[in-house]
Parts: sequence; structure tokens; C-alpha cells
Amino acid sequence: MLPRQEKGISECSGILSAVSGGKRGNMRFVYPQGKRKALTFSYDDGQIFDRRLAELFRSAGMKATFHLNSGNLEEGGNGSFYVGKEELGKVYAGHEIACHGVQHRNPVTLSLEQLVLELQEDRKALEKLTGGLVQGLSYAFGSYNGDVMDTAKKLGIKYSRTVQGTGGFFPPADFLAWHPTCHHDNHLLELGDRFLKVEGYYELPLMYVWGHSYEFGNSGDWSVIEAFVEKMKGREDIWYASNIEICTYIEATRKQEFSADGLTMRNPTCVEVWVSTKEGILTVKPGEVRYIGEH
Ligand SMILES: [Zn+2]
Repeated sequence: MLPRQEKGISECSGILSAVSGGKRGNMRFVYPQGKRKALTFSYDDGQIFDRRLAELFRSAGMKATFHLNSGNLEEGGNGSFYVGKEELGKVYAGHEIACHGVQHRNPVTLSLEQLVLELQEDRKALEKLTGGLVQGLSYAFGSYNGDVMDTAKKLGIKYSRTVQGTGGFFPPADFLAWHPTCHHDNHLLELGDRFLKVEGYYELPLMYVWGHSYEFGNSGDWSVIEAFVEKMKGREDIWYASNIEICTYIEATRKQEFSADGLTMRNPTCVEVWVSTKEGILTVKPGEVRYIGEH
């Protein structure tokens, strides 16, 4: 049996189409370049099998996020379980590097001081190794609560992944508790098929797969992820993006401002936003005010 889907949506879809019959009814946010769906991956712990997994995604034109424990990264890289510091740029080229806690400690068991160190020092170490900003997180052991979410947010973390698979394709309500679609061992190929035919009432549908590369490396069986990549690659309507790219984009869509009649949109963010309208795909650039209603 497949994991549960969001309940009641099919019943609601008729209502949604009725609501969308008005003048602004055909306006929907879409992903960059007018793509309708997004696919992303999140792999934890930074073990050496990331080398093969990152290359698998890269060679298929896909992007993933790798959540690393900076305290586990090796100095030399050889003969260890973990990827070496000196090879991060090569192994993860084209992908996102994000936090998973310096020492992979369980966030809910830590004092505030320890939690701050675990997250802030991880950011600092990974930023020093990679340059730029590291703003993503996945909770070690999938463990979190409201205090952990609040602390992460205050430390500059923009999103954090949990391990609670939804079996669905809705973007998260709160990016600090970003529930993935599924672990790769949980009906991945069936969910991929469902995602390829995702219903039209989904706005910004998203498939989010998580796991650890050592699950493939230790067993030597890479077949499920290889089959999934083969099935999903090269699709014109899919945006292949990292976690932070998707978070940044969707957060921008949520900040858009509209005229009272809903026909004019102002983009107050620094991200170009794409909308699908009756007239086709439009973009609204940072700072732009644009009529998006019927012409
Ligand atoms: Zn982990």
C-alpha cells in the first residue's frame, strides 16, 4: 500500500475549480522557466558513498542537497567512512551542501548553549570550507520540537528537513519542519509514477526524496535510486533544484502582494517569480508591479 496522501483533496478539487472560475482564476504560481513541478533530494551524513550518488544525480541533470556533519569530515579523506574536507568542492559540485549538526547530536536532548554550538559552528565550518552561505539543515535523527525550530531560525537556518514522509506533493506549511515525500525505500518508484501524473489542482507540486547514501553503499544495491533517476530525468515540466533553491523560490511566492481585485501583482522580493495565467506564462521581476489578470 502506498503511503497516505493528503486527505480530502480529490473531494475539494471541484470546489477549487469553481473558485478558480473568476477573473483571476487562471493565475497560478509556477516554478522558474514556467515549469510546473519540482523534484529535489536530501541525503544525510556525508559518507563516502555520496561520491557515487552525487555523480548519479549530476549526470542526469538533477540537483540534490547533502547534509553534512562538519565534525565528521576527514582531513585526508582516504580510508575513512566520511568524505574529506578537501574534496567537498569536487564531490558536491552543482549540489547544495547544508548542515546536519557538528557532531550529529540529537537536537531535542541538548541545552540551548549546546544546540547553538551544534548548529552555528556547523554553519561556520561548512561556510569556511565551501564559501558563500549555508542556510539549510536536516535534523539529526529527524528529532526536533518547537524550541529547536525557533533556535534554528534565529541562527539563520531557512529550512530543516524532518523524516516524516507524507506520501504527497504539497510544499511544506513551515520550512522549518519540511516533511519529505518519502524515504527512498518507501514506494519510491510508485510515487514517482504518481508524481509524473500529478493532478492539476496541485499548485507548485514538489517531490522530495530523502535517505543516506550508505544505505546503497553498504548493501551494494543501487537499483532503486538508479531506476528512479532514469524514470524522472530529462522532463521538460520538472525543475530539478536543491532544497535551498526550492525554499527560496516558494517563500518568495508567499510574499507576493496583490491588488484588491487580485489582478495586479507586486514582487517585493529579490527573486524573479513566474506565474501561469490565461495569457500564458508571465514573469514578475524583483520590485516589478505587473497586471496579471485578463487582458
Ligand atoms: Zn544523520
